[in-house]
Order: sequence, then structure tokens, then C-alpha cells
Amino acid sequence: MPKSRSTVPTLIKTWIALYNTTDETIFTTDGAVVFCQLCEKKIVCSKKFQLQQHADTALHNSALKRRGNEKKNNYLYWMQNRNPVTFLMRIFVQLW
Ligand SMILES: [Zn+2]
Repeated sequence: MPKSRSTVPTLIKTWIALYNTTDETIFTTDGAVVFCQLCEKKIVCSKKFQLQQHADTALHNSALKRRGNEKKNNYLYWMQNRNPVTFLMRIFVQLW
């Protein structure tokens, strides 16, 4: 049975859910590519280990630490990351 490509976005969502928490989004996805919010980097991710590999990089971990410090006293930073552009776009489309 051939692997269905349509399952990949579902898998990616499962993988990134392991890193994202209810109040912190670290990875987002468009269904094909994972985007790291911390490193502002695209991760081509067809296998779970590719995501793990990124999460293990020094760059990512230092960004994670930095984010932790910022989160304590920077509510705006949190808001920016919690309100994706798509949310504003949706409102815009409704008003149009
Ligand atoms: Zn990262």
C-alpha cells in the first residue's frame, strides 16, 4: 500500500504538538513545511527526526532560553506570537 501524502500534514501536526504547549507555540506548519517561531527558520520535515534534530541544535536551545526570559516580562511578545496574521486576515476578509 503506497504511503498517502495527505497523512503527512497530520503527522507534522502531531510532531509539533509535542513541542508546543497551550501557552507557547514553538513550531507552526502550513502542512508541508514546519516553521520554527523561535529561530524564524523553515524546517523541511518529512520525518520526525528532522524536527528533533532541529530542536536539538544549539541555536534552537539558546532561542528557547531567550524566549523563556522574554516571556516572563514581555506580554506583547507573547501576544504577537499568539495572534497569527491569519487571524487578522480573517477579520479583514469579513469586513471586506
Ligand atoms: Zn528553532
